[in-house]
Amino acid sequence: MKILVINAGSSSLKYQLYDMSDESVLASGRVERIGMDSSIVTHEPVGALEVRDVSEILDHVSAVKRVIDLLTHKEYGVVTSMSEIEAVGHRIVHGGEVFKNSALVTMEVKKEIKRLFDLAPLHNPAHLMGITAVENVLPGVPQAVVFDTAFHQTMPDTSYLYPIPTVLYRRHGVRRYGFHGTSHAYVSDKAARVLNKPLESLKMITCHIGNGASCTAIKDGKSIDTSMGMTPLEGLMMGTRSGDIDPAIVPFVMNKEELTLNEASSMLNKHSGMLAISGLSSDMREVTDAMNEGDKNAKLAFDMYVYRVKKYIGAYAAAMNGLDVLVFTAGVGENSVVLRKAVMEGLTFLGLELDEKRNAARSKEARQISTDRSKVKALVVPTNEELLIARDTYALVNEAQ
Ligand code: AMP
Repeated sequence: MKILVINAGSSSLKYQLYDMSDESVLASGRVERIGMDSSIVTHEPVGALEVRDVSEILDHVSAVKRVIDLLTHKEYGVVTSMSEIEAVGHRIVHGGEVFKNSALVTMEVKKEIKRLFDLAPLHNPAHLMGITAVENVLPGVPQAVVFDTAFHQTMPDTSYLYPIPTVLYRRHGVRRYGFHGTSHAYVSDKAARVLNKPLESLKMITCHIGNGASCTAIKDGKSIDTSMGMTPLEGLMMGTRSGDIDPAIVPFVMNKEELTLNEASSMLNKHSGMLAISGLSSDMREVTDAMNEGDKNAKLAFDMYVYRVKKYIGAYAAAMNGLDVLVFTAGVGENSVVLRKAVMEGLTFLGLELDEKRNAARSKEARQISTDRSKVKALVVPTNEELLIARDTYALVNEAQ
């Protein structure tokens, strides 16, 4: 079965086509600047040259049409006809409390995604546009939705409630939802396989550290706590997001600087984190390079970033009363040798011992970076959210047949 995985944003649409017989990627690509005068389409058939063009793509329906044209194109295509695409899986940022698992798209499911617009105003409306566009272009093809929040629905109320008036939870759904769930689910499963141990027997902390970053405590295969909250702003220090701060700072600064709600939100989401402290960049590579050249602010940004990751690892080891496995993933987690080293140094009390050679080795494969005698295992596991979306879609479509 061939499955198309779609991640629809408000002005972009990313895709990957999977052949589920061996879980291989046949092609991937993206449409950018949808609805603007010059949209950019990049199509990458595996094993062939990338195709790039600039044209006018006014809406998501045209974007999906363009993707299907490319996938079935005589020259750059990877399938002979559109009928070979038997199912479509969508990444959906917010599934609220309703979606504890992935689901096949029905009228009811679309209604729920719409009901959740309030909680993810930038993402869920765009995802729904993606679903509707596929309905238009590939009528009758089953679609599934896979939620960033679903994996964290196993959290107990002690983790997901905030100590504020409970009426806010009941009335507006103010609680911790957590994000990057598809990634945490994928890497925890993969880590258990690499270690050849049942996931259900392990206490694991997965650190998804990219532009956005979150840590998750996984006990017996279930998320019991995660650092992102009601929105992806809480938790670790990130590229441009503040992560945890004293909430009283917000009204204080709004008052002193005469900021509007939007300005305050923009300050915390777009102008904070590593970018604010380094005064240079939100990109870990640039910050690390500057630090190595002696830039003091870059060093402070790096040290703060590391310190906060360490604090979450300590907190989650306490939450689980122990730790068996620590996993690093995403752009920074998979690639930054110095970040992993800095995080793991000083966590020896937990029983973590870094193997410097393994840590420095370059590989795209999941691998152990702790020493053989380390009580707690540390792993780098490249994330693959798209594959998990394809797998869930495949399972749901097969179940329904
Ligand atoms: P992501 O959001 O998962 O794509 O991750 C983006 C982040 O990964 C950026 O901060 C990049 O600087 C960082 N990153 C990517 N490659 C490297 C690398 N080789 N070393 C350090 N950081 C990296």
